[in-house]
Amino acid sequence: MPKLPIYMDNHATTPVDPRVLETMLPYFSEKFGNAASRNHSFGWEAEEAVDRARGQIAQLINAKPKEIIFTSGATESDNLAIKGVVEFYKEKGDHIVTCVTEHKAVLDSCRALERAGKAMVTYLPVDKYGMVDPDDVRKALTDRTVLISIMYANNEVGTIHPIAEIGRIAHERGVVFHCDAVQAAGKIPVDVDRDHIDLLALSAHKIYGPKGVGALYVRAKGPRVRISPQMDGGGHERGMRSGTLNVTGIVGLGKACEVAGAVMAEENRRLLDLRDKLQAGIFERLDEVYLNGHPTERLPGNLNVSFAYVEGESLLMGLNDVAVSSGSACTSATLEPSYVIRALGVGDELAHSSIRFGLGRFNTEAEVDFVTDRVTREVRRLREMSPLYEMAREGIDLKSVQWKAE
Ligand SMILES: *Cc1c(COP(=O)(O)O)cnc(C)c1O
Repeated sequence: MPKLPIYMDNHATTPVDPRVLETMLPYFSEKFGNAASRNHSFGWEAEEAVDRARGQIAQLINAKPKEIIFTSGATESDNLAIKGVVEFYKEKGDHIVTCVTEHKAVLDSCRALERAGKAMVTYLPVDKYGMVDPDDVRKALTDRTVLISIMYANNEVGTIHPIAEIGRIAHERGVVFHCDAVQAAGKIPVDVDRDHIDLLALSAHKIYGPKGVGALYVRAKGPRVRISPQMDGGGHERGMRSGTLNVTGIVGLGKACEVAGAVMAEENRRLLDLRDKLQAGIFERLDEVYLNGHPTERLPGNLNVSFAYVEGESLLMGLNDVAVSSGSACTSATLEPSYVIRALGVGDELAHSSIRFGLGRFNTEAEVDFVTDRVTREVRRLREMSPLYEMAREGIDLKSVQWKAE
């Protein structure tokens, strides 16, 4: 019996890896210098630590250390990339191409620019697996397009987009390519040269580092990409992001990247085995379950499933010792089904029935067995109380039923 509660929501955040924590600890106390203090050893020590982290991050994505800009997290990185490009290249154009399943950090940055009259945005659709068609990207480009923003891998359904192809199109047309790689960098091989990425956002807390620190990769050569800063101040980070550096957090991000790169191949094999076991266990025991996301082009730790005739929220409540997440985000007062799941063409019912399992570094096989069992029993219990499930079992076509309003 595994220890409860079980954490299986690793797309939302991850615990700090003990190796990362250990590396960070001295920077809370004795090594407290300001990396911008140029005239004493406290400052030099902090700057050295920051430079080391820059190298560790750069290595993970095949970039150069000087191309890494530290931020407070990927939300800021996405904002800086999108608003920064639109502002800098405003003489050249004002059109952005992105996609409907992007993270809110990207979608809301685009919306804000639209509302301010600073940009026009094309939101590309995705196929039933949640994937963008590179041909759609190509066709959406106009003379005024200054930015393509497509995520590497989706945070809800795990689908991995054909990023290298999209990047090639961007570079053929001389358009800047921004990629939100929060769920990919440190999880699957990411290479800014192979993938033709100009701006890349990543976040420490999704890869076993601390919360509140992230980075933006900004291509320096082939081509050199420019952004307007969104934060004014002391001119840190070569003027692109002012503010005293979060040295402790940055040390953690760097170490998290180093560890991620070192364990990636083995970790992926292990996660894939666990994920496939969880998926097979659920699909063998239950009928009317549907996979959301791409069957193969998907993050190893991701499993998003719709359980027909079951409300995701009710299922979550029943699984009170298992931390997973449902496709109905309480973003507002109303319970809205996830816009990502809906974009796959799944109906509202199935979108409301979706559960995301996010397997990570510290999940075990015993936990997978426990969760398989708990989910199966809970879904069966809820379906026993569902008249709709009864009717469907009896062969009644629910679409043909005339519902009477009381
Ligand atoms: C978590 C996440 C973000 C936001 O990152 P923060 O560092 O938490 O601001 C952006 N994009 C994706 C795809 C994410 O999963």
